[in-house]
Amino acid sequence: MNYAHYTDVPVMLARDLVNLFNEDVTFEQLDEFVVSRGFTNSTVVRRRDLADVAALAVNLREVFLAETEEQKVELINGLLIDSQVEPRLVDHDDGGVHFHYTSDEFPVLTKLRAYTSMGLAMVASQHDHGRLGSCVATGCTNVFVDTTRNASKRFCSAPCANRTNVASFRERKNA
Ligand SMILES: [Zn+2]
Ligand SMILES: [Zn+2]
Repeated sequence: MNYAHYTDVPVMLARDLVNLFNEDVTFEQLDEFVVSRGFTNSTVVRRRDLADVAALAVNLREVFLAETEEQKVELINGLLIDSQVEPRLVDHDDGGVHFHYTSDEFPVLTKLRAYTSMGLAMVASQHDHGRLGSCVATGCTNVFVDTTRNASKRFCSAPCANRTNVASFRERKNA
């Protein structure tokens, strides 16, 4: 798999990484996540990466939760400054020539930081800041990327929307 064919894949990686760290993540879970995202080949997840990636997830979450565009821009620029984004064209695994944001030789944290910060930067520059948000359902801490045409997304998923609708229906009925 390669990230370059779809500009929205890096931002979805950011979203999924944040949501993965909603709960305590084990080394095995992180390793599985990284492999599932196609960061295979030379990317090795070491146990000591866990704390660093968890810290990255915290920084990424701040972007989704930022209330103003100004704050989002500042946070994303902070991530980009720390990132070793080194774009290049590559051709591997018979995938054809395509774009990578950084070197395949870099450690997993560096790669995750480069892809996720670029993903956020691209969305923030293409859409208004409302495109990155967090679920309003009670008890849910998921963040989301709003891909609706009118930027009206409030819930991370259908179950969260349904749960909230049922609760407010009951409230109205009891009132
Ligand atoms: Zn690739
Ligand atoms: Zn939710």
